Amino acid sequence: MAISYSAGLAKVLDAAQQQRSSRQDWKSRVRLQDAIGGTAAQDVLSPKSLPEHDTSAMDGYAVRSQATATASPNTPVMFMVTGTIAAGDDPGETRSAGAVTEQDSTSGLHTCVEIMTGARFPNGYDACVKVEDTMPVDGQTGILITKPVPPNANRRVAGSDILRGNVVMRQGDTIQPSHLLPLASLGMDAIPLRQRPCVGIWSTGKEIVKGNGSTRDANGPYLTAAVRDMGLQADFLGVLDDEPASLHAHVEAAAASGQFDVLLTTGGVSRGRFDHVLAVVDEMGAETIFHGLSIRPGHPVLFAMLPGEGAKTALFGLPGNPGAAAACFRFLTVPYLKELQGQARELPVAAKLRRQPGTPGEKRTCSVKPDRDCFQHGILSVSAAGQLMVEASAEQSPFKLSPFKTANCWIHFQPESPESGPGPGLVECYPISPTGAVLLSPRLQN
Ligand code: AMP
Ligand code: MG
Repeated sequence: MAISYSAGLAKVLDAAQQQRSSRQDWKSRVRLQDAIGGTAAQDVLSPKSLPEHDTSAMDGYAVRSQATATASPNTPVMFMVTGTIAAGDDPGETRSAGAVTEQDSTSGLHTCVEIMTGARFPNGYDACVKVEDTMPVDGQTGILITKPVPPNANRRVAGSDILRGNVVMRQGDTIQPSHLLPLASLGMDAIPLRQRPCVGIWSTGKEIVKGNGSTRDANGPYLTAAVRDMGLQADFLGVLDDEPASLHAHVEAAAASGQFDVLLTTGGVSRGRFDHVLAVVDEMGAETIFHGLSIRPGHPVLFAMLPGEGAKTALFGLPGNPGAAAACFRFLTVPYLKELQGQARELPVAAKLRRQPGTPGEKRTCSVKPDRDCFQHGILSVSAAGQLMVEASAEQSPFKLSPFKTANCWIHFQPESPESGPGPGLVECYPISPTGAVLLSPRLQN
């Protein structure tokens, strides 16, 4: 009998953990630009504080804030400019004659130093007044200030961004481009990442091999792209006929090559006369972890561990209908790949389910049964009142692909029981692409 989705997912995650723990040294240093989509193999600590020194946040003049306390339009305070400090100048280096002192010895005027954004603050000065808030006098040798400047104004205090020893990357974090901003500014050019899983993919089906135009391979291109989109390596290995011997030879060779961590097939996992994937993995001495889940779409899905030299290879036998293959990939293969890399489990967002126009009563779009999980694609959007709303695509047949033109999320309808689900009227949603946040659709507003 088919097991539940939650039981199946637990087995998938358990198998991934076992695979991960059999590969403890599975990491390498990767250049920052190549790290996107990878998983941090350990905590990364900041080797220094940022900013390293007090620097100016504005182009202006470094002053002692106390000296500006009485400044007003009627009683402006005059400062003598004793030099200029540009970004990149060494401490104490000024670009014109004149010592950096607090008060000019001959005139008795307060002193200031012209300073550029990012330049190091000279000793003795605690604030920067923006150039726009000053008036030049005597050519450029003096300035007038007409309002008080608070202490620390426009001054970036050393260590105010990142402190030495701070955790800048947690083990298990998935590296995104935005992470490169702190990492690169700390001078890091490479970080330790877990080795990325490599996924081999076949489509199966005589009708697709023949390529007579009636059924084109949708699954191969989709799965290859979706795995690559996760920052992983994906090799499309071709379209296979519904021939057990050829299927056996290809799957066995790929498993024996040691090149793949995960193999995906689509098609040929149901109970039809020409569905041979299960028989082939059985022949190979694989451990079939499940064949059949109480889900819709995708109930015939197969998950097995293939034997091999050293580490085993996971095989997901996904159904052939592209909508079902995509749902099983999203809700079974993606969690396996994330867990294999030690990434955090993905959390859904809760959205209010919009009834489709014409849907009678309170019935959900999915015919939810107490013993079945249902995955539907849909469109997530924000209402005028700021509520996250989701509408399931009107067409959910797993062979109909037109809704994928606009769908931006998957909805997970859980079996109906009082404690399941995120709350009354709410459903769990996941981005349609496993890598990112949901790109909210502007189409549905109410
Ligand atoms: P199967 O799971 O092999 O019984 O296939 C179920 C349905 O999905 C059939 O209508 C197949 O023609 C179709 N199908 C199988 N593989 C693919 C594929 N790679 N691309 C598009 N349709 C497919
Ligand atoms: Mg088939």
